[in-house]
Amino acid sequence: MKKGDKIVGIVLLILVLLTLSATLVYKKINKGTEHIAVIKSDGKVIKTIDLNKVVGQQKFTVKTASGHFNTIIATKDSIKVKDADCLHKECVKSGSIEEPGGIIVCLPNKLMISIDGEKISTKEEENKVIDGGTF
Ligand SMILES: [Zn+2]
Repeated sequence: MKKGDKIVGIVLLILVLLTLSATLVYKKINKGTEHIAVIKSDGKVIKTIDLNKVVGQQKFTVKTASGHFNTIIATKDSIKVKDADCLHKECVKSGSIEEPGGIIVCLPNKLMISIDGEKISTKEEENKVIDGGTF
């Protein structure tokens, strides 16, 4: 009897540990994995890219009304200005941004690229809503 109790205790402990580690891994994977690059031209959002879903290289050019351009390259998890016709090419020199909060600005061409990250708290709140709805 005592031996049986011990086994049950160990099994329970293992289950608890497994659940805990699974939760931790889940949270770690989800934390900051949403990388939405927002490209603004002249204050308006012209394009958003989910950097997690970029396969290979996504290259495109943003042209201003006055005929200037910025060539942007998005790869998985990062985005940068590859080329531009602005005077100092500060945007090209900025290199690539990867983390939410990162920003590239091209003042002469009024271009701005930033990365928005979705926080895990939002998802947890969504789950709560779903749980509340089921009985
Ligand atoms: Zn520039």
